[in-house]
Amino acid sequence: TTVFVPIDSAARSVGADEVAEAIRRAAEAHEIPVTVVRNGSRGMLWLEPLVEVQTDRGRLAYGPVSVEDVEDLVRAGLFAGADHRLYLGPTEEIPWLARQSRYTFELVGVLDPLSPEDYEAHGGLSGLRAALTMAPETIVETVTESGLRGRGGAGFPTGIKWETVRTTPTEDVKFVCVNADEGDSGTFADRMLMEGSPFSLIEGIIIAGLATGATEGFVYVRSEYPDAIATMRTAIEVAYLRGWLGSNILGSPHRFELTVRVGAGSYICGEETAMLESLEGRRGMVRAKPPLPAHSGLFDRPTVINNVLTLASVPRIIADGPARYQSFGVGRSRGTQVFQIGGNVAHGGIVELPFGVTLSTLVDDFGGGTRSGRSVRAAQVGGPLGAYLPSAAFDVPIDYESFGAIDAMVGHGGVVVFDETVDMARQARFAMEFCAEESCGKCTPCRLGAVRGVEVIDRIIAGDQREANLELLEDLCEVMVSGSLCAMGSLTPMPVRSALHHFRDDFHRSPVVGV
Ligand code: SF4
Repeated sequence: TTVFVPIDSAARSVGADEVAEAIRRAAEAHEIPVTVVRNGSRGMLWLEPLVEVQTDRGRLAYGPVSVEDVEDLVRAGLFAGADHRLYLGPTEEIPWLARQSRYTFELVGVLDPLSPEDYEAHGGLSGLRAALTMAPETIVETVTESGLRGRGGAGFPTGIKWETVRTTPTEDVKFVCVNADEGDSGTFADRMLMEGSPFSLIEGIIIAGLATGATEGFVYVRSEYPDAIATMRTAIEVAYLRGWLGSNILGSPHRFELTVRVGAGSYICGEETAMLESLEGRRGMVRAKPPLPAHSGLFDRPTVINNVLTLASVPRIIADGPARYQSFGVGRSRGTQVFQIGGNVAHGGIVELPFGVTLSTLVDDFGGGTRSGRSVRAAQVGGPLGAYLPSAAFDVPIDYESFGAIDAMVGHGGVVVFDETVDMARQARFAMEFCAEESCGKCTPCRLGAVRGVEVIDRIIAGDQREANLELLEDLCEVMVSGSLCAMGSLTPMPVRSALHHFRDDFHRSPVVGV
């Protein structure tokens, strides 16, 4: 019998290691031959540790399982897929999962993340094998036709970026740099992908190399992700041993070298040019553009910079052709988005759905409302620099253009839920405080503006010349938007302005202590 217990760090944080060990011991004690596979997480985080058993009825799920439950489960017939109070039915039929369109996350939670055999048995490497038979420009065209846009937040068309790198000449080398800094609060999809299906990312990186002529790559992972770092390192070693990486990729004349680099805990290193500085061994400071990294990036060489989810989507796009991916989504937002639902929500986790879904679906249907049981007041979409949206905006289709039209952004797909007790004036203050903490300091509107922003909001909350300070805050936001060098400074006003626009009363509610 094969039993699956996730090795994902979210599952480990609630005792998955101990549950796996208890299952091994119980199987031994009952003299039942059992193989425990440590898979990635299916993304239903409130059910972790989610234990699955392989049966002739498919994989059956139980959860959330604690160590104390294991003996009872085994006695009830866990290894035969017997009924139990923790029994959830066939995993793929759990409504949360069954209603999704898993594409980028197709293999996450299904595989043993570090088993190359498992990966190939599930269709892994078919994208790379196809790419090895294609001309670079054909690979780029396929990605362009799919409509894939960067999932790091900016939503830039991936094919155009690759074409720029492909057509930029170089004396020696081009690079692929993977942005796995994932610093946005409420986001964890990059981590889960790296921990759950690292070969999908590695395959996507190699294909990016074949498409653009890049032969060296770096995965820049934030230091806060020790499990993802370890998994990626081991997966890269395995990929070298298998001949997927190195000087003759799958026996072809192509080569690609890949290394993991660990960040040092700075939010701004998620900004692509600050990431390049960090990769070059310097402090993470934003570089002025131009030159674009595609022309002159890492060590001044042409460089592809893509997010984890962008690259992990590529193997299937190449293997299946662009039409399937294109068929998902709305308008110019093609494909699926991996939403990460968190905050004050009953059912948090990963929901992958085509663009065009609404917050009502994500927060109410999938999330099941708030964890506190109070009514939902707002959701912040797109990380700490995303807009706070009231329930009145919950029926707007989530896509790059529709969200842009309501002064919001999709970002990296994080959705953080707040109940009616949230104070939006304090959330606005938090945005400025966050920017003041994380600013790289290169430009004045961000470096000083954020500090002044905290002070102005403090005065508003205290009721000190409130109207004048509200006007000043609007003015400051305008300066930060128009004068900042990068998205850190220019997007910080987004949560502030959305709070002012949708939750104005919160800025008037506090006791007035001044004139
Ligand atoms: Fe640095 Fe902020 Fe200016 Fe960006 S906006 S370059 S983070 S100071």
